[in-house]
Amino acid sequence: MGDELPDLQILRDNWSAYGDPASTHQVSVNGVTFGGERPVVIAGPCAVESYEQTLNIARAVKRAGGQMLRGGVFKPRTNPHSFQTLGNEGLEILAAVRKETGLGVVTEVLDPRLVEKVADVADMLQIGSRSMHSSPLLIEAGLAGKPVLLKRGWSATLEEWLCAAEYVASNGNRDIVMCERGIRASCHWSYARNLLDLNVIEPLRRATPLPIIVDPSHATGQWTLVSALSRAALAAGAHGLLIEVVDKEEVRSTLKCDPEQGIPPEVLAEIVAIAHGTEPVSMS
Ligand code: PEP
Ligand code: MN
Repeated sequence: MGDELPDLQILRDNWSAYGDPASTHQVSVNGVTFGGERPVVIAGPCAVESYEQTLNIARAVKRAGGQMLRGGVFKPRTNPHSFQTLGNEGLEILAAVRKETGLGVVTEVLDPRLVEKVADVADMLQIGSRSMHSSPLLIEAGLAGKPVLLKRGWSATLEEWLCAAEYVASNGNRDIVMCERGIRASCHWSYARNLLDLNVIEPLRRATPLPIIVDPSHATGQWTLVSALSRAALAAGAHGLLIEVVDKEEVRSTLKCDPEQGIPPEVLAEIVAIAHGTEPVSMS
């Protein structure tokens, strides 16, 4: 592609309601508004590993002031011998925790054949970084009638990411929230998992009215870096954050998925307070 963006319906130039560069297409999910007055903090476990873990974390997220719950049940795993996540059982856990806490749920859908099933439980469908280029999945997600959280592919250009959003939009759904989660660079696992591209927020907001949030957890891979990167993301114009949380430090070493990157609930409360301009809630 050249310097010009392709002709897409999600661009401001083609979406007449949003010609004003300061305007944002608000996306409502279970009473929470992306692109509204306040940044949205979504938080939860990397993967749903049990009912108890998910409920404990969801309660902590709610108490800290987080507005939505995340948690993977159909997760793409790099190594076929790693924990492959709970699938249908995990979906049932999410449904139960959603009912118990009232928090809206976002979870990843990996397989186009499972979109309907996941959409029966989830308030928002997450398309993961590895799946951003999967047009059959984007098409099904567009048809499902639920808001979509579209992660940036880990080597995707801004144009490719916008084209992925266009697949969803051109199948009838413009309620899309974009999510920057770090791109591959010459990072080494020992200090950073990915390179968080905060530069992309401003040009993305200029190009499209779709809201954009940032995932500092997968960007860094290290929970101690998440607070600073959350602040940086908000300063750079993000409409929200997607953050992994552990329920308590003692369980970290037992987690089967991304054990190093979940923040403790107290840190989540501090981040929410910064995002919302309030005092942090005491978590003790
Ligand atoms: C996730 O958020 O659960 C996840 C797998 O992230 P990503 O697709 O960005 O790697
Ligand atoms: Mn994770």
